[in-house]
Amino acid sequence: MNSNEKIIIIGGGIAGLSAAIRLAAAGKSAVVYEQNGTVGGKMSEVTAAGYRWDTGPSVITMRHVLADLFAAAGRQLEDYVTLLPVEPLTRYFYQDGTVLDVTRDLPRMLDQIEALSAGDGEGYLRYLAHAAKIHRITGPVFIYDEPPTVGTFLQTPPHHVLQIDALKTMSRSIERFVKGKHLRQMLMRFATYVGASPYLAPGTLNVIAHVELNGGVWYPQGGIYQLAVGMVRLAQELGVEIQLNAPVQEILVQDGRAQGIRSDGAVIPATAVVANVDVTTVYQKLLPHEVGQIGRKAAKMGRADTSCSGFILLWGIEGEFPQLAHHNIFFSQDYQQEFTQIFGDKVMPDDPTVYVSITSKSDADHAPEGCENWFVLVNAPAVSTAWDWQTEATRYRDVVLAILAKHGVDLSGRIRYEQIMTPHDLEQNTGAFRGALYGRSSNDRMAAFQRPHNRCPDVAGLYFAGGTTHPGGGVPMVTLSGKVAADLVLRDLAG
Ligand SMILES: Cc1cc2nc3c(=O)[nH]c(=O)nc-3n(C[C@H](O)[C@H](O)[C@H](O)COP(=O)(O)OP(=O)(O)OC[C@H]3O[C@@H](n4cnc5c(N)ncnc54)[C@H](O)[C@@H]3O)c2cc1C
Repeated sequence: MNSNEKIIIIGGGIAGLSAAIRLAAAGKSAVVYEQNGTVGGKMSEVTAAGYRWDTGPSVITMRHVLADLFAAAGRQLEDYVTLLPVEPLTRYFYQDGTVLDVTRDLPRMLDQIEALSAGDGEGYLRYLAHAAKIHRITGPVFIYDEPPTVGTFLQTPPHHVLQIDALKTMSRSIERFVKGKHLRQMLMRFATYVGASPYLAPGTLNVIAHVELNGGVWYPQGGIYQLAVGMVRLAQELGVEIQLNAPVQEILVQDGRAQGIRSDGAVIPATAVVANVDVTTVYQKLLPHEVGQIGRKAAKMGRADTSCSGFILLWGIEGEFPQLAHHNIFFSQDYQQEFTQIFGDKVMPDDPTVYVSITSKSDADHAPEGCENWFVLVNAPAVSTAWDWQTEATRYRDVVLAILAKHGVDLSGRIRYEQIMTPHDLEQNTGAFRGALYGRSSNDRMAAFQRPHNRCPDVAGLYFAGGTTHPGGGVPMVTLSGKVAADLVLRDLAG
């Protein structure tokens, strides 16, 4: 690589920033083109009427992945972002009035479990050990390194394959360990961290419970968005150039190789291009369909099942709710029916599970004194003709209010400010195909093998980083995705 060579990263989401940091730390010239006026992608923030909200991720796990990124650049994470442990991890409210504080304080956790379902304490401990074992086995193959192939997986010892529950669904796997319905519902919820259904996704996804229940939940002081701010600071210190309001319309391909990009009419040559955009969107909108298999693949990707999306309410609340924690879940009565409606019927559930994150519980200045900033999220089907948000958004907000009232949280006259975001907003703001939060569906035991590779198989010099490629969605995973993409670029450039 000579000094004129540069690597273009399309998109300033967490994966794009992670890739740019890794490339710059290795001495390469990296330029990020971001279509919006701010970086962070799905990790975003809104301020209004004296309140501040994070509008995307709210739960940060796998702190070590973030620490590794900063360490790769010779820095310390804590000099850029202060990650505070959150306790309880989440407060769960059930429709029968049960409240469960899920905590890493095991004696306290076991007391609560035994009070709900005698004998389940031991099963919970076995479940935690099981989830940790899945992490040990799958980590090197599915998470921390380059994408697996069926070949790599076949080299895995057969007893390991059986131990990771790849052939059972998550719900079936959980039922083997605990019998209480409250605990089962809590453990099944981790499927939603990759936008999947616990009744369809493989038991291997119990690994997600490990990273939260054993590893803990972290909150960047000042708000989740501080993580994006810290990453930008590091990137800029390393010399990464960040172009904002710079949408990319096309990846230029010649002789089967990425030559650069076209942004706002200008042609910008590059040695390599890393796309931090939903891979389906890249195939459908940024690559030339007449080249090789691209057109055919773009159409095929458009037909594939996706992960779920989200319906978001930002509420500026008058007054405080001391019975609520930083992270709260108000569970539905019939969990299976909820997922059937989202993934089967592709409509919003009649009785949804409602998540409420209140960062003012940890950072008082995120709301006016004596008030709270509520970020409310309900799992939603990806955009399709089966559900019309234009006519349904306001009505569904009333469904959410009714659910909260059923749980004893009455917000009548207490919403000072409101903003509604639907899957269409996610699609428009971040390029997420059909507004799906985590790309292709994980409701399939082959999903880990079907996720697009970080090295584009159709265009040399084009790489993918982000939640729709390996190793998957969520802040730590996309941070890893940036690492994998950067490693591949560096290796290919080195010949
Ligand atoms: C509501 C919600 C809740 C979530 N909750 C959690 C959580 O609690 N914990 C967790 O770990 N994860 C959570 N996630 C998932 C997590 O936010 C994502 O997996 C992660 O942030 C995705 O990062 P990314 O870099 O892959 O992509 P994105 O954040 O989507 O970034 C892609 C970037 O590319 C830009 N872009 C797109 N097209 C172009 C173009 N043509 N030209 C230039 N730029 C372009 C976009 O503007 C965007 O900035 C949540 C996501 C959402 C939306």
